[in-house]
Amino acid sequence: MSNSLILVVEDDFSVRNLMKTTLKANGYRFLLSETGNSAVMETASHNPDIMLLDLGLPDIDGVEVIKKIRTWSNMPIIVISARSEDTDKIAALDAGADDYLTKPFSVDELLARLRATERRLEYMLGINGESHIFVNGDLKIDYPAGCAYLKGVQLHLTPIEYKLLCLFSKNIGKVLTHTYITQQIWGRTSDGDIASLRVYMAALRKKLENKENSVSYIQTHIGIGYRMFKVV
Ligand code: CA
Repeated sequence: MSNSLILVVEDDFSVRNLMKTTLKANGYRFLLSETGNSAVMETASHNPDIMLLDLGLPDIDGVEVIKKIRTWSNMPIIVISARSEDTDKIAALDAGADDYLTKPFSVDELLARLRATERRLEYMLGINGESHIFVNGDLKIDYPAGCAYLKGVQLHLTPIEYKLLCLFSKNIGKVLTHTYITQQIWGRTSDGDIASLRVYMAALRKKLENKENSVSYIQTHIGIGYRMFKVV
């Protein structure tokens, strides 16, 4: 049973009720907000561990809520939206959301996302700020040495592939959009950069996910971006 405090921001009564019941049944503590402004206030006064945020709110847009909160807090934000358009998800992720769920979602899926976010939080808290070695399952990165290893065997990565791997490792569990990644790697975003990114990602994944190592470290979000998983 978890002890995390979850802030649910949702104006739809039935969805809010479903979330409330689910969280209660699974031992979570929770707070409920129906508007964007009250979500910002609740965050400031109660410092929740994770926010579940609907994007379509009656007062301010969910993306605005994320922008406001990101000025002072790194609390994980999982966007939950009925909008199926990728542009809304991308805007939310670029504003600093960590993950997203599309309505209608299953209760199991919601709980799985919460557990994944909690694992990431624990992992981030467990990392000493001075830690120079990243470990995720069989993957190890020695940042000062500029080397990555899989099952103890050094990976032969190009400079861009290595840069990408470090970017994912430093944002483990978080969905990174194409725009964010190309900005970080090349300092710009054009259609050409996004096309190159696909090629580099395919090459990197091939090196990380060979036959003997069936673990999938990097997940593709079609039309949105990529995420590195925390391997359990
Ligand atoms: Ca709504």
